[in-house]
Amino acid sequence: MAQIHNLGFPRIGAKRELKFALEAYWAGNSDLPTLLATGENLRRAHWQRQAQLNWVPVGDFAWYDQVLSLSATLGVIPARAGFTPGQPVDLDTIFRVARGRAQKDCCAANAASEMTKWFDTNYHYLVPEFEANQQFRLSYRQIIDETREARAQGRNAKPVIIGPLTYLWLGKCTEPATDKLSLLENLLPVYRQLLQELHDAGAQWVQIDEPILSLDLPIEWAQAFEPCYHKLQIRGLNQLVANYFGSLGNNLSVALQLPVAGLHIDAVRGAEDINRLLDRLSPHKVLSVGIINGRNIWRTDLNAALERLVPIAERLGDRLWLAPSCSLLHVPVDLAAETALPEDVKPWLAFAQQKLEELALLARALREPANPEVQAALAENRAQRALRQQSPRINQRAVHTRVARLGDHNALRPTAFKERIKIQQQTFTLPPLPTTTIGSFPQTAEIRRARRLYKAQELSERDYTALMQQEIKHAIRVQEEIGLDVLVHGEAERNDMVEYFGEQLEGFVFTQCGWVQSYGSRCVKPPIIVGDVARAQPITVEWARYAQSLTNKPVKGMLTGPVTILCWSFVRDDQPRSTTAQQIALAIRDEVQDLEAAGIGIIQIDEPALREGLPLRKKDWPHYLAWATHAFRVCCAEVADHTQIHTHMCYAEFNDIMEAITALDADVITIETSRSKMELLDAFNHFAYPNHIGPGVYDIHSPNVPNQGWIEGLITRAAEKIPAQNLWINPDCGLKTRGWPETKAALTVMVQAAKSLRKKLEGAAA
Ligand code: GLN
Ligand code: ZN
Repeated sequence: MAQIHNLGFPRIGAKRELKFALEAYWAGNSDLPTLLATGENLRRAHWQRQAQLNWVPVGDFAWYDQVLSLSATLGVIPARAGFTPGQPVDLDTIFRVARGRAQKDCCAANAASEMTKWFDTNYHYLVPEFEANQQFRLSYRQIIDETREARAQGRNAKPVIIGPLTYLWLGKCTEPATDKLSLLENLLPVYRQLLQELHDAGAQWVQIDEPILSLDLPIEWAQAFEPCYHKLQIRGLNQLVANYFGSLGNNLSVALQLPVAGLHIDAVRGAEDINRLLDRLSPHKVLSVGIINGRNIWRTDLNAALERLVPIAERLGDRLWLAPSCSLLHVPVDLAAETALPEDVKPWLAFAQQKLEELALLARALREPANPEVQAALAENRAQRALRQQSPRINQRAVHTRVARLGDHNALRPTAFKERIKIQQQTFTLPPLPTTTIGSFPQTAEIRRARRLYKAQELSERDYTALMQQEIKHAIRVQEEIGLDVLVHGEAERNDMVEYFGEQLEGFVFTQCGWVQSYGSRCVKPPIIVGDVARAQPITVEWARYAQSLTNKPVKGMLTGPVTILCWSFVRDDQPRSTTAQQIALAIRDEVQDLEAAGIGIIQIDEPALREGLPLRKKDWPHYLAWATHAFRVCCAEVADHTQIHTHMCYAEFNDIMEAITALDADVITIETSRSKMELLDAFNHFAYPNHIGPGVYDIHSPNVPNQGWIEGLITRAAEKIPAQNLWINPDCGLKTRGWPETKAALTVMVQAAKSLRKKLEGAAA
């Protein structure tokens, strides 16, 4: 009967053991044997947790990132990290690629490799760097050793590697003209050698991940699959090619034709693949059905899953495997660790451990449907679902009515930008090239301490408020001294731009240990949107009012937008994302109205996640962009003409969503551009962005103080593409990770640059 397996387990540890071990090692506070022992213990514990599976994954453990581990395995390590081709890669070299340095003070730093998002998740991988004539050599043996390690512990080990085509797709060529696909020829012999060694280490099955099958692939990439896998056949080694994060779609035939022993599909996001596959799957192939959602934290509807699985099991018999849809890397480890979740909500959730239990139960239900334990578990699952459906948390009449009224409402501001901006200019009388910042100011140790004590109820509300007001006062004074035109309050009261709003909105719950790896040792603890979202009372208004009371210059109100709150949370699975976005938008709209009523004339609604929320397939973009931009507009459609709406996004690639950004109809957008030296402004060659825009003029990720001439150069370049009267001057992003001295110095230079350019503008006009 159906076998069960897992595509990958969260590696960081239920208590983030790997994070702390890595950081201690990097800081020079522990040694290599200690770090190695932590890793070994984690792997052992994780395999133990998966003991009920027929196959446990090996190779899902990585010291920093699974893509980087594979790069090391294949010898794709930049020379600047101290790597000599032909030599084995060691752990310190891996850390130098990832972080620029292995251990504190140990050696000269080098430039770290670039990091980017793993498909549409919030996980980031290290981008492989290919040279023009990249040679590949088996240079790192972690996955082979770990296959032996798992087998020595009595586990049925199934090594997991990223397939050669996905691997090449994810990398970048150091010489831009090189065609990555042309490297395949050189790459395959090393993959063969790796597969052979995995087989020699005792593996019977290997899982080869090719999630690019979920993307719109250029034809030459799709065509490369079959010949590639022909060359990878190893006698006695069964290969399971895994696709996840979406449906195979038009790559379905490519997948079916692969000369491999089995396929894994994402049956959650790619539900439509199943029937098409069943009709065409060759009679000896295994089909692994990813039936449990590996991207979210909700309990599975087991009865519905079984209903889908029974006919498949009848057709496939023991060729049916069951798995989560993708690696469980993207969910927290164990719900059992949560002691503070609301009693009614906890039974709605399943983290990695619980998902594996669900999998085991499904397999058992297929095997022995009449078993009383199985029946009891299914009944309990049904009962919990019913409770969830009836819960007051998701039946907030008032919220539903408001969303329904929103309907197709186009959510446009009544007056067009061209008219609004004239009124706003009369209201604020700002100079040309107005200067501002993105919102946050340095989060000092004292600020974080005050927040911590307040949260632990060791600091009274009054004392906490007084401390935060002191910070706001300081931030306002500094900005006035520097001579900025539009000020901010500095966001001292906010730990995180999403968590802060989630904590004060209805419909959210928070975990204590629900950590998910973001990159390397960094983890995030996303809020969970469990119910209808509404705002019980104003969130930011008092802080904003206080800040505005200290100065005659305008202070921006500062909010996080609905799409970003959605993208950085675990989202309800019982209604479309667009509906949840509308609920959040209405809550933010209430806040916008209250800010306006409190005399805040400029309100910024940050949407840094707008672009990363883009679906993997282009055909799905228009729908997403339509509801995402609508949600943003809902937030600000009701404000008066003289209220100026700003938004902020921190990424440079926006050429392909220019129209959506225009559709937001924000009066002013600030964006990251300095790191790309304003390359992004190329988008303006073909597209005249109609509203005002502040292309970031210095990189806030570095403590270096920018040079005035350099900033002037950037703005001058920007002014070649965008009319100078539409330009604002601001840094790339918020300043919370910086210290005060460099922040003051950098902003002073920025304001000087603006003043000097204004003079030149006047001169040109005279
Ligand atoms: N207003 C936020 C800040 O300045 C924006 C952060 C972001 O874009 N990620 O910190
Ligand atoms: Zn930003």
